[in-house]
Amino acid sequence: MPVLGLGVWNIPAGRATQASVRSALDTGYRHIDTAKLYGNEADVAIAVQESGVPREDVFVTTKLWNTDHGYKGAIQAFEESLSRMRMDYVDLYLIHWPVRGPARIESWDALIDIYKAGKCRAIGVSNYMMNHLEEIRGNPIVPTVNQIEFSPFLFQKEILEYCRQRGIVVEAYSPLTRGRRLNDRRLQAIAAKYGRSPAQILLRWGLQHGLVLIPKSSRPDHIRENANVFDFEIRAEDMAALDALDEQHHMAWDPTGAP
Ligand code: NDP
Repeated sequence: MPVLGLGVWNIPAGRATQASVRSALDTGYRHIDTAKLYGNEADVAIAVQESGVPREDVFVTTKLWNTDHGYKGAIQAFEESLSRMRMDYVDLYLIHWPVRGPARIESWDALIDIYKAGKCRAIGVSNYMMNHLEEIRGNPIVPTVNQIEFSPFLFQKEILEYCRQRGIVVEAYSPLTRGRRLNDRRLQAIAAKYGRSPAQILLRWGLQHGLVLIPKSSRPDHIRENANVFDFEIRAEDMAALDALDEQHHMAWDPTGAP
């Protein structure tokens, strides 16, 4: 799983998504994160196909939306995603959100069967906190990935450690705080020290914590900037200063209370 991908939430379907994905692939990204909810799965697929990059070189993730939970619903939703993308398989299929009640457990059973049928290379979850993960722990197949909001401003140490101990990859969504903390003066001071942008510091921090990152951008210059994070290292004292920015604030949503 490439450690850096492009997230395409909130990029309008059609040319805008196609152009962003194409720009990312041309820059060297080999990982795209979409979802049924985003309404742009088909455009991701078109861009991959038109880029000339072999399908097997691109890691494509999509997700099961809340209205499709339950065994049958999940199987059907997955088939519909595949058909929208005109693909034989996806690389990673995630439960997008831990909806209430038993349906989410049935959905996990469906994902296991999809995986066993060879239609996706890996299965995982998103927005799952410890209680949700515990619920499916006894299954023959456990999630390989948990995609959750993560940045220095939401440093979820406990769940990171929990996942790490169980071999679950933590994938950080909204790793750039949706742009809302890029002006933080403490972050800017560290960025100036390394001659990097605040966005690059946030991404590098995530890499050094072992996260997979999926920043969203529809601007080619930002897409390039966000990929340019593999040639420097944040020193321990600055990592500690970034860790201390934690304010436990969710930019997206807080799944902790989902029963
Ligand atoms: P991000 O933290 O990735 O921030 C995106 C924002 O930052 C956009 O406004 C973008 O604007 C801006 N930006 C990107 N690069 C830069 C840069 N270098 N400098 C300044 N601004 C920049 O937010 P998202 O919430 O979109 O999260 C990323 C991805 O994670 C989503 O696209 C989606 O794939 C996934 N996600 C999953 C969720 C889930 O429930 N599983 C929930 C939320 C997100 P511009 O386009 O102009 O560059």
